[in-house]
Amino acid sequence: MTDTGHQSSLIRLYDSYSRSVVPIARAINGKSLGIYCCGPTVYAPAHIGNFRTFILQDVLRRTLETSGMRLRHVRNITDVDDKTIRKSQAAGEPLQKFTHKWTEHFHKDCRRLNILQPHEEPRAASHIEDQIDLIAKLLTKGHAYKTPDGSVYFRVRSWPQYGNLSHLERRKLRTQAENSAGERNTADDYEREAIADFALWKAWKPEDGGNYWPSPWGKGRPGWHSECAAMALRYLGETFDVHAGGIDLCFPHHDNEIALAECTTGRRPFARHWFHTAHLLVDGRKMSKSLGNLYTITDLQLKGYSTPAIRYTLLSGHYRQPLNFTLNALDASESALKKLRRLTETLLQRAYGAKWRRETFTELGNTAVQQCRWGYFEKAWRALTNDLNTPDCLGSLFEALHTLERLEGCDAKEIMRALAGLLYALGIDLFKSSGQSPSPRVIPQEVKQLAERRWKAKCAKDWATADKLREELIAKNWSVKDSKHGYTLSPTHPSLK
Ligand code: AMP
Ligand code: ZN
Repeated sequence: MTDTGHQSSLIRLYDSYSRSVVPIARAINGKSLGIYCCGPTVYAPAHIGNFRTFILQDVLRRTLETSGMRLRHVRNITDVDDKTIRKSQAAGEPLQKFTHKWTEHFHKDCRRLNILQPHEEPRAASHIEDQIDLIAKLLTKGHAYKTPDGSVYFRVRSWPQYGNLSHLERRKLRTQAENSAGERNTADDYEREAIADFALWKAWKPEDGGNYWPSPWGKGRPGWHSECAAMALRYLGETFDVHAGGIDLCFPHHDNEIALAECTTGRRPFARHWFHTAHLLVDGRKMSKSLGNLYTITDLQLKGYSTPAIRYTLLSGHYRQPLNFTLNALDASESALKKLRRLTETLLQRAYGAKWRRETFTELGNTAVQQCRWGYFEKAWRALTNDLNTPDCLGSLFEALHTLERLEGCDAKEIMRALAGLLYALGIDLFKSSGQSPSPRVIPQEVKQLAERRWKAKCAKDWATADKLREELIAKNWSVKDSKHGYTLSPTHPSLK
């Protein structure tokens, strides 16, 4: 493995629209790469399936940033739809208060999982005007029609390109529309010209209670597809770089968004690149409440799992393949992280001596991104840039660390910068979780001093002093393990762990 001395920056990514792996070369606006991610519907805690999608979007963002690109990341909050309204009513809370509570919960989970906050996080309920404008334009252009009850529908037959993203044949559209006419695609009780037509504006019904907004078509609320199209256009413009979501959103949601945006603006394409994440399965089956296999982050934490291990597990499969989640896989991730921490700590000691601090590592991760040389981690970085192959990246990362464990005389600081950069791209915060390994900051000063004296004695081949100091450390409930280039301290008493 050689140090190429320069950053390999070209990220290649599968595009669902063209069905090919293509480079993400440059931002279309020449400034920052615009990414729109369909965000959570906030009526309950997000589950780990949702987080597979959000974590992969986070890794995409971090990888692009690490390659030196500037980004504008937008992820919406769906805080008005059938589910949010019905659930808020069941909880006896006003919609806004209810969705605010679940949005906060979502943010908390994101922080636990080390998911970066998007640059913009528009809420659908705060962008009703934008959606009304969009619908009005579609009506003027003949792409939409009103029904007697005051709803507005998109006329699918007015736009021959409809369905190009999901590659659906026209014939199948009807069946798909029927199948997907669940809670998300509702308003079937309203009068439509064709079954494939979908609601842009839903007229108020008594069961909606006080949840409505005025519009030129009467009181009601926007449909889900209008939300994302309007917010993406507002924050990223008529044509932007990447649009992302789980695979289930490809049809009808994303095909519908394309139809709304492109019919409104007359500009193509709405998004240049479509990034879809395959589903997470649990024990080989679809996650569902009735099967009792739907996990939230809190559920797993209560079982004693750390959030880095959850993140690690969700990165252990390629995003284009369904991933089967098991508790055994989580156990394996905890062990992998422990090993990763141990190997990293050894390197940190080689680079910075016993005085290294957790912050040093985090700072390195944040700053190394613009200028690091990948060196021993070149293969791992390449895996990431090659269609975000996180499992290969993790495999190569371990390979490199094992090689480094046996090597002497390399530039430990440079290696640390590359490693921190790679872990930043993966979003693995090694020293965040408690429990697995004590943070060096909690090692008492006197213990650190003893360990340092012992190391110096050992280097000077003063075995008697080294042994004596080791005994002193043991008496203080600390064990010391040596490698070629340094040592690791671990507490031996459970209360210190
Ligand atoms: P929702 O909160 O239902 O709007 O979903 C938020 C995101 O999670 C969307 O991008 C969905 O496509 C995605 N999603 C839902 N279920 C899963 C799953 N089992 N695996 C991966 N992504 C999912
Ligand atoms: Zn969306």
